[in-house]
Amino acid sequence: MKIAILALQGAFAEHSEMLQRIGVESFLVRNIDDWQQPKDGLIIPGGESTAMMRIIRDEGLFTPIRDAILNGLPVFGTCAGLIMLDHEHLGTMDITVKRNAYGRQLGSFRTVHTMKGIGEIPMTFIRAPYITAAGDNVEVLAELNGHIVAAQQGSQLVTAFHPELNNDTCVHEFFVKNIVNGGD
Ligand code: GLN
Repeated sequence: MKIAILALQGAFAEHSEMLQRIGVESFLVRNIDDWQQPKDGLIIPGGESTAMMRIIRDEGLFTPIRDAILNGLPVFGTCAGLIMLDHEHLGTMDITVKRNAYGRQLGSFRTVHTMKGIGEIPMTFIRAPYITAAGDNVEVLAELNGHIVAAQQGSQLVTAFHPELNNDTCVHEFFVKNIVNGGD
């Protein structure tokens, strides 16, 4: 198994460390040549969705990534990576998102909360979005104060928080076991 990690900007190195810790190989994607390597899944990290969006267009990655996801490539988006999959960006997931949803005061915070299919996990939010509306085909996996912060639609998994910034590898294991391997 090999997972591609979009590495244009943001917290991509932390994702490759998480995968390494659970014994999964990964490679970084910076351009179309990198992208063309065989892969079983994709991680879109946190960072700045506006910058990431501009770079995937400049690098000719927008359509190849969108098509691959629509054709079933498993994808895991964290924070800005969640935003990238919404209606206004790649548009592969039936979700509407509010960016920087926690405002300036509560811009960044940590909590421990339940995620469906996993249990209690640490959640680190950094100028995080949340999902304000989700289609019927979207399963809500975590809600915090009435706002959706983790969800799944088929082979697409998103979290508004950053599991790669904690010691806990559970969410990455969930992605690999339940989504990339399809629950085998
Ligand atoms: N605020 C960022 C955005 O709107 C997301 C922050 C993050 O990924 N930690 O893209």
